[in-house]
Amino acid sequence: MEQKQTINFGAGPAKLPQSVSLEPHHFLILFQPEMSHRSADFNKILDKTEGLMRELLNIPENYKVMFLQGGGSGQFSAVPLNLIGLKEDRCADYVVTGTWSEKAAKEAGKYGKVNIVHPKLDSYTKIPDPSSWTLNPSASYVYYCCNETVHGVEYNFRPETNGVVLVSDMSSNFLSRPVDVSKFGLIFAGAQKNVGCAGVTVVIVREDLLGHALKECPIVLDYKVQAAMNSLYNTPPCFSIYIMGLVLEWIKNNGGSAAMETLNKQKSSMIYDIINASNGFYECPVDVTCRSRMNVPFRVGKKEGDEALEKEFLAGASKRGMISLKGHRSTGGIRASLYNAVTVEDTEALAGFMKEFMKEHQ
Ligand code: PLP
Repeated sequence: MEQKQTINFGAGPAKLPQSVSLEPHHFLILFQPEMSHRSADFNKILDKTEGLMRELLNIPENYKVMFLQGGGSGQFSAVPLNLIGLKEDRCADYVVTGTWSEKAAKEAGKYGKVNIVHPKLDSYTKIPDPSSWTLNPSASYVYYCCNETVHGVEYNFRPETNGVVLVSDMSSNFLSRPVDVSKFGLIFAGAQKNVGCAGVTVVIVREDLLGHALKECPIVLDYKVQAAMNSLYNTPPCFSIYIMGLVLEWIKNNGGSAAMETLNKQKSSMIYDIINASNGFYECPVDVTCRSRMNVPFRVGKKEGDEALEKEFLAGASKRGMISLKGHRSTGGIRASLYNAVTVEDTEALAGFMKEFMKEHQ
């Protein structure tokens, strides 16, 4: 059956590079769904994927890379279970700038004390100025979400923690820009946005942070166990790891994280420029200092959104093959996700439609 070409602007699972998604022969020749995770062939896949990850992010030797199940949400539990006991107080600092850091903070509260380092925000449209944060010097770690996928809030800086271990959820901007891994205690990211399909979550952790898990930590979430077993304590998400390897290869062949950043700046500017020049026809609620390059949320017609017009916008986009542009159910409106695999041409198609729609309806 011939498939209609569509452009997926979804927040995740998201678009894969064409070289990965359009080559089903890969699956037959190089990946056998029945292959044992303890076989030499699968080990080659695992080694290749880890090698590419290390190369692309220049990961120092004293960091372990793990490929785990349980998603980003699993890490909301695994992080405190493994790290909140690093210091006696069992306290962790959280910066809460959107749905995902809010969920992570709530989960961590089950295992220790959580200090939200700033007053509660009325809306998730900005990052409170770090000079106003109250960090606790005896915290076991400081946690933040580098890109809030639902609200489109992204950090353009790395928080300063005065020596306290820094932990970041990079699920939705992983490998979309360079990052200095050596400045972090732990980084995690679900694959299904920038580096593959659903099922696998990468955890990059500094070795000296292993071995501090709380005694109630489930063994599959224990970093020390998983790191010692090379992510093979239990059956790993084999297929998702294989796909991640292909996507990492694609990133490498296309210039690595620096080249991804150049493209992501170009693509997101294209959309924000239209919003900014639209005289309020399109409105992005996020402060200009922290607008995400990955997820661009906007309303159509008026500030709070004209729902009928937004429905028409989505229908028009869909007719042109542009799908999954509907905003998150908690925010409404539109959200264009422009992950690595979304091309400049894809983004131009969306930009063209936005201009056309505005001309018709303004
Ligand atoms: N963190 C971020 C930034 C996310 O965008 C998501 C999901 O979209 C999650 C965590 C949760 O990931 P999962 O659904 O894989 O548990």
